Amino acid sequence: MMVTTHAMVGVAVATSLVYTAPELALIGAFGALVGGVLPDVDLFVGTHRRTLHYPALYWVGTVPALGLAMVARTPATVAVGFVLLSAALHSSSDVLGAGEELRPWERTVDEAVYLHPAGRWLRARRIVRYDGAPEDLLLTVVFALPGTLLYNGSVRYVCLLCVLLATVYALFRKQVPEYLGRFVE
Ligand SMILES: [Zn+2]
Repeated sequence: MMVTTHAMVGVAVATSLVYTAPELALIGAFGALVGGVLPDVDLFVGTHRRTLHYPALYWVGTVPALGLAMVARTPATVAVGFVLLSAALHSSSDVLGAGEELRPWERTVDEAVYLHPAGRWLRARRIVRYDGAPEDLLLTVVFALPGTLLYNGSVRYVCLLCVLLATVYALFRKQVPEYLGRFVE
């Protein structure tokens, strides 16, 4: 799935703070954004969907971090809690997408995300057929709605920017491998 989808899922969850802890809603949303994007940094360093994707281990950190954030409500505890939660949701939900390949619609690779404790790859479920597919764009739009409606200012603008970027990416998704090929040459 697109990184914008993961980022918007995180922000949608962070909107739970808007009414329960409004003074921490902004830091929670930014933590969720960071956590939603963070795993995909392994596109550039290490092995994608393995080096920074932890579909099991992020949860091991998320549960105590969110517990601590509830007991000791500070910007730092809430930020860490939402970074971990959003990274956990990202890593776990990547299994619903395609395998890790340049043209995922060709379906030649079944490895979706690495499950470190088991020492193996989880099989791609392809409920979202490939990143940037129409259903993936729909997910970005739907999950951007709570953040757009319940936040104002910077979080709202980031949500709208994600929808814009996701739309452009989805429109040109199938040309991306060609562009990359030229860039490498
Ligand atoms: Zn990912």
